[in-house]
Amino acid sequence: MSDILYMVLPCYNEEEVLPETARQLKEKYQTLIANGKIDKKSRIVFVNDGSKDRTWSIIEQLHNEDKMFSGVNLSRNRGHQNALLAGLMTVKAHADMVISMDADLQDDIGVIDAMVDEYYNGHDVVYGARSKREKDTFFKRFTAESFYKLTNALGGEVVFNHADCRLMSKRSLDGLEKYKEVNLFLRGIVPMIGYPSTVVTYERNERFAGESKYPLKKMLSFAMEGITSLSVKPIRFVTVGGVFVSLVSLAMMIYTLVRYFTGATVEGWSSILISVWFIGGIQMIALGVIGEYIGKIYMETKERPRFIVESFLNDKE
Ligand code: UDP
Ligand code: MG
Repeated sequence: MSDILYMVLPCYNEEEVLPETARQLKEKYQTLIANGKIDKKSRIVFVNDGSKDRTWSIIEQLHNEDKMFSGVNLSRNRGHQNALLAGLMTVKAHADMVISMDADLQDDIGVIDAMVDEYYNGHDVVYGARSKREKDTFFKRFTAESFYKLTNALGGEVVFNHADCRLMSKRSLDGLEKYKEVNLFLRGIVPMIGYPSTVVTYERNERFAGESKYPLKKMLSFAMEGITSLSVKPIRFVTVGGVFVSLVSLAMMIYTLVRYFTGATVEGWSSILISVWFIGGIQMIALGVIGEYIGKIYMETKERPRFIVESFLNDKE
């Protein structure tokens, strides 16, 4: 008897990629079922994250044509992390193992076999990590890899070059359910759950259709933070102001030094001006950083739901 595999794929405006993604995954599932690796009751679940295009109707159609496909419809757009969590929590009861992946299949689907094998080898969590980043620009590779290194250096446990392509067993998902935070960063939480885990590597491809839903990723996530936390905005401005004032202090430093060496100053003028600006900038940055954390606490204390499922199309038999 083989185990039941559910795949969860968050979709936001993915009408262009869905038919092809569905075709490739169905083929993969048919092979896995034929080889006795996974049970016939295994499902491919698309989570519609409040798309504005035909994504949900395509999912409904896929489900009607083939029971291998299931769909979770969220009440509105909640962002990738929340959509993924919604999918994982919705299918948890029906699956023995769940693999999460992006709907654009940028992650090589060949990794599914490796993940399932590692699951049967007794691993509850199998992280998919990118082997090399040849297809990335130098800038992207540098910033991404620095992010993983910096996060680890600051005490956050993240798997190097692993995003959200991973396999989780039922009991590790039960563990994940106990983490209630609304500031969701799944790849940081999963390692905290524990249980035996391992890493498999794959090469990440380009999108075969559609556009990235994260253009200028960094800026968007910055903007999204600002919008989702609404009234935390002023604190964010303090941080930005602090950075600005610190930059001004640098300019002031140069200016006063020039004046000092040209002898056009009163005794003590340079040191006072430099320290006023410099300390002011540092203080504002410090306030901003503290504010960031208070903003997070503010959001957590509300205990708002992280997602609301409107409907779940699933054929258990
Ligand atoms: N996504 C989502 N909700 C959003 C934005 C994105 O569910 O608000 C999904 C998207 O459909 C895709 C995955 O998250 O399946 C990753 O997005 P994308 O491929 O655009 O990001 P990239 O690969 O460029 O980082
Ligand atoms: Mg992508």
